Parts: sequence; structure tokens; C-alpha cells
Amino acid sequence: MTEQAPKKVDMEKIVSLCRRRGFIFPSSEIYGGLSSCWDYGPLGVELKRNIKDAWWRAVVQERDDMVGLDTSIMMHPQTWVASGHLEGFVDPLVECKSCHLRWRSDDLAGDSCPSCRGELTEPRLFNLMFKTFMGPIEESASVVYLRPETAQGMFVNFQNVVNTTRKRLPFGIAQIGKAFRNEITTGNFVFRSREFEQMEIEFFVKPGTDGEWFNYWIEERLNWYVKLGIKKENLQLRQHTKQELAHYARDCYDIDYLFPMGWAELEGIANRGDFDLVQHTKYSGKSLDYFDEETKEHFIPYIIEPSAGVDLSALAFLCDAYDEEPAEDEIRVLLHLHPDLAPIKVAVLPLSRREKLVAAAKKIYADLRQHWMVSYDDAQSIGRRYRRQDEIGTPFCVTIDFQSLEDEQATIRERDSMNQIRVPIAELKGTLQAKLEGEPLFVLPPGGQIWKEEKK
Ligand code: ATP
Repeated sequence: MTEQAPKKVDMEKIVSLCRRRGFIFPSSEIYGGLSSCWDYGPLGVELKRNIKDAWWRAVVQERDDMVGLDTSIMMHPQTWVASGHLEGFVDPLVECKSCHLRWRSDDLAGDSCPSCRGELTEPRLFNLMFKTFMGPIEESASVVYLRPETAQGMFVNFQNVVNTTRKRLPFGIAQIGKAFRNEITTGNFVFRSREFEQMEIEFFVKPGTDGEWFNYWIEERLNWYVKLGIKKENLQLRQHTKQELAHYARDCYDIDYLFPMGWAELEGIANRGDFDLVQHTKYSGKSLDYFDEETKEHFIPYIIEPSAGVDLSALAFLCDAYDEEPAEDEIRVLLHLHPDLAPIKVAVLPLSRREKLVAAAKKIYADLRQHWMVSYDDAQSIGRRYRRQDEIGTPFCVTIDFQSLEDEQATIRERDSMNQIRVPIAELKGTLQAKLEGEPLFVLPPGGQIWKEEKK
């Protein structure tokens, strides 16, 4: 993480919005919270689900060279010997001799305790994997680890995937799942959580073609964030220096995002060479090589790994979407979330609680929620209700007024422009569908004929 701290949006504003509107809460809050663990509230869970769905669609559904997996969190302990995690997944820690707080020695600026200025011990290596026991007996033979990354589940299943799918190189495996790291330096909201979710790809290629695929995936992954609304100027690529490279990596780039506290990693893309398959072959005794039917050669594929964090993506999308603009005599807070990511796609708002309006609005609500996450709100003034939806990034509101009862039309109000158009109730679903997919559709009153604006 670099020093730069441009005041784009205060982290406190994001944390407060997340808390106030039910995106993210501290874990087990009624007991005082659990350090670096977070609970996703009713809106947060939708945002996360939408991020994961968008990723899965882009990297699995829309491609013919990728398949998915869902492997177990606990794996055979030998996995972590082979992967190098048992020996190498360590941080150097120092302990304060007075207050006994522990610090990552590579994070410290001085040589005394940042909390009480006390004297520090020599650094000791500390493994970041969480340990537990499998079965009823707590002994060393039954120790298992909570996975610190989802990647290993894909490496150990390489042969299963080749045999069952008949996939030929180059092809990839994708997985979304929880990972656990006993992080020492925590803080900055969901950064360095101890329990988090990853979206990882292991892309298997013929050695010699790895450079080309490495570049391909860097570009592909960068574009994914941009397509979903992250501003290009808030993203940068950073190549790892030789000293920084992990033991398994031949090359690695981070996609950094300009978070409120400065540039920090959002996703890492590594060229892992043949390290993983060679190691697992050695430790399992099972061959993990690949037979190329065209050239009749056996070889161990190289692996390109784009590894992204769901939680960090959620935070980046929230920070990038956050906006405040003057509206009448107040500040309008809004999230310009991409429609694919918005937790709620449409809000249905009857102008008043009069029985006839409520009945018409509830019918529309029941109909639209067959297709998307829709919310219904009839509390307080219509202006307040628009603001509430703006603040959580709902792209469209549908308002039902007294005229709707006469002319069978409703108003669609757009979040970003605050433009309003009048649409026949019968055309609501089709119009919203097109608008959510980004079509510039307008409906001309009266009669509600739908026409498409010419794209310039
Ligand atoms: P470290 O800096 O601790 O060595 P890293 O940032 O290099 O770890 P990777 O091992 O490259 O992390 O993990 C891949 C992705 O998983 C990261 O880009 C990030 O999005 C996510 N991730 C890793 N650790 C955490 C964490 N503690 N909390 C939230 N997300 C994480």
C-alpha cells in the first residue's frame, strides 16, 4: 500500500452508510464485535451475490474454455505441505515486552512498540493459517487447516476435471469461496479480514504460451472492473518486484484500486509456472501431467492465476459509486452502482397510502419481483423515498399516483439523471428490463409508445 491519500471519499462515510443502510455490520456486534470479521446485511448480501454472479457469468458462463468447481474448505493436511503454506505462509512478528501487543516487523517504521513505545522482541515467524482438529480427538495427527486460499482445491482436482470434462488446453477452472487468514495487521474496514471470500481462476496453458495468456488475463480482468462502472483513473497495474514475488510466482501484477486510504490491491494476477502441479505430483505420488493428443507429448501445464477478493471488490464498487450532490436545500447522497450490481433494481412507490393506490402498487410490486429484487416503500414523502433509494443505488423507482388509476400508466424515475418518464403499466416490465440492460428507451405520452433513442 502506498502513502498517497487523495480525499476522494472518506472511509468513515462509506462505513457509516454500510452500517446505517444494512450493507455491512461488525461480526457478533452485540458481544462487542469480533476483530476483522464482518457480517453482510440485507443489502450487502445482494451486492456480494451480484458481484459473484457478474464474475461467474464473465469467466464461466460466457466462455467455452472455463469450468467451475466448489471444493471443501478443509483439505488433506499434506496439501499445505506441498503448496508451501505450512513453511512459507508466515509473517515475521515482534512482541512488545511491556504491553505484549504483536506487530508485523515489516510494517513497523521504528524499533519500539507503536502503542506504548515499549521495547520489542526479535522477530519470530508466525503462520497465518487457522488450525483446527478433525474428529473427536485433539491431537497432532488430527490437525487440519482452514484454507487460506481457494486455489489449492483447483490444483488437486486438475486431473478430475480433465477426465470428466474432456477439456483440452488452454482451459481454466473457476471457484468462489471462503478463505481464512489469521492476519496480524488488520483495520481499514474489510481490508485484511480474517475470514473473506475469493473469486479465483486457475488457467492451465502449454509452457511457452504462458506470457501471452498472462497478458490476456491482466487485460481481461482490468476490463471487467471498468465494464461494471469503476473509473479507469482509479485503477492501476503494478508489477511485483523480484523481492516481493511469492515463492511460486514467475511474474505477478496487482490490480490496485484507489481506496480512501490510498492505492491498495484489489486483485493479483500471477504466472505460477508449473510450481503447483509439480509439488502436488511430488507429495501425492499421483501424476498430474497432461497428454497433448496432437503432439503426443506429456508435460506439466503452466498456470495463470487471476485471484480477486469479493469483499474488496464490494468495497471498491461502493467507494467508486459514492457521490454527494446538492439537491434543493440538502445534499443528495447516491450510489451510481451499475444496474447489474445494485442490490435492489426497482422500488415501487405509491404516492399515498390510499387503499386504491396501495392495491394497484402492490399488484405491480408482486409482478415485478418475479423478475428482480424489488422493494416496496410507502412511508414518508415521495421525495424522502427517492432519497432513500438513491442512497442504496436503486437504479429505478416506479411511482403510482391517482392518475395511474385513470390512465393505467406509472412513472419511472431514473436515479442518476432524476429524469421521469410515463409508461403504460402493461409495458413496465419490458421498459425496465431494457433500461436495466442499458437501453436508452423513452416512452412518449400519451399512449405510451416506446421508442429507442438513436445511439450517437
Ligand atoms: P498478503 O498481502 O497478505 O500477502 P495478498 O494481498 O497478496 O496477501 P493474495 O494472496 O494475492 O493476497 O490474495 C488474492 C486476493 O484475495 C487479494 O487480491 C484480495 O482481493 C483477497 N484477499 C487476500 N487477503 C485478504 C484479506 N485478509 N481480506 C480480504 N481480502 C483478502
